Amino acid sequence: MGFLKSVKDISANLEPADKIKPFMKNIGNGKDSKIMTIVLQTENLQQPITIKRIGKIDYSEPPSEDTREIWKNKYMFRPKGGNQSWFFSPVFLLGKVKKKELKTKFEDKFSEKIKKTIFNDLEKEEVIGQNNANKVKALLNGEQNQIINQIDEESSTFVVFAFQYGGKEYYAGDLDLFRAYFQKKMQLDMTKTKTERTCSICGKKVKEVTNLNKVFNFATFDKKGFIPGNQKPLTEKVFPICYTCYSKNDHAREIIEENYNNKYTIPGINIWIVPEINGNEHKKQSVNNNFSNYLNNHSDLIEKRMFKRMTRQNAALNFHILFLEKEPGKAKETILQMVEDVSPSYLNRLQQLWQENTRLWTSTKTDNPPLDTAVKFLYRTFSTEIKHMDPSYRKQKAIELLAKLFRKERINIQHLKRQFVSKFPATMRDTYYYHKIRNQLRMIEFINAQQREVEKSET
Ligand SMILES: [Zn+2]
Repeated sequence: MGFLKSVKDISANLEPADKIKPFMKNIGNGKDSKIMTIVLQTENLQQPITIKRIGKIDYSEPPSEDTREIWKNKYMFRPKGGNQSWFFSPVFLLGKVKKKELKTKFEDKFSEKIKKTIFNDLEKEEVIGQNNANKVKALLNGEQNQIINQIDEESSTFVVFAFQYGGKEYYAGDLDLFRAYFQKKMQLDMTKTKTERTCSICGKKVKEVTNLNKVFNFATFDKKGFIPGNQKPLTEKVFPICYTCYSKNDHAREIIEENYNNKYTIPGINIWIVPEINGNEHKKQSVNNNFSNYLNNHSDLIEKRMFKRMTRQNAALNFHILFLEKEPGKAKETILQMVEDVSPSYLNRLQQLWQENTRLWTSTKTDNPPLDTAVKFLYRTFSTEIKHMDPSYRKQKAIELLAKLFRKERINIQHLKRQFVSKFPATMRDTYYYHKIRNQLRMIEFINAQQREVEKSET
């Protein structure tokens, strides 16, 4: 059992159609994204392509749900890593910009930046002809007004380059030379080994591996026993995986991000809730309906009732809860905490405890406050009420506390009390001191009750 087993289940039916498709990501997921398509007219479509002029510039909504897969394969978008000076395909994330700002810094923010991050490398790899990167920059400068006028300041803009030849339009994904370019870049993640290595996921013996942290960036990757299903102590950080498992896991990660990701409960933290069906194949079949109901009910994730929803799941389901943080300027999220195998029945018990706590401490008439409010309350109280200067430290400690709670671990309540008390002098000077201290007491009471459950389950 474990998180990686779940990922394996999710990716089981994702037999890679080709070597690069699983690595492509959707663009414009959110409602607030737009796509600017700049069509470049070319003299040929053979390598190296010679670019002539800009054909047209369109500004549109992202592809609709039913055409997303088709467009994903055409755009071939994959976000670049932090230090890369190239993109996997000619898609540039401009983001949200003000027209005024773009006008004064057009080269810095647009033409020169696009040349540097996309076309320079395409030229170096001879996908486009010599001096064509400069040409694209000059062409973009020439269309500055049209480009700026089309931009919607409220939306995050992706700039997609398409190619026109012989009266037809082609996207990168339609052209073999761009597909080969993408694959070449993916291959950079693989390391050739002298002797055969065993893939940690499928067990296949291979001579080319990458590391699992290319897909899941565990903050505590090097800690013994952190990686699920790996009982042997890790002597090194390396968790080798083969190319096929890399592509399947990367694809599964996108499915998790799109379907099981809660961004609403704790600000700045993504909480992944990954379900796992226990039991044999037959049993799996019988809970499949329940599982797909969960899959399809995204509204619960969004409407802040995710944890409440989980308490109602069949006992044949378990959950893995991951807390992720995306550091500004870094491409990948870091997994701060991972809690495996959380049962719906335990979540249900937590929900009951929270209900009792709410009845005692508030005048709320709600019969059934969602467990989500408990998560929010504990996080907020702990991360703001302990005496420590560094907010990121307090954040991490608060997440750690939540993880302990879900993991049914012992929590040192005396220590928790001392942390609150040490901040009393400052709290007392606060206008809302009564509220604050009351919240602290309420939190201690809740954790006390939860710890009695932990003791019960230990005896
Ligand atoms: Zn493998």
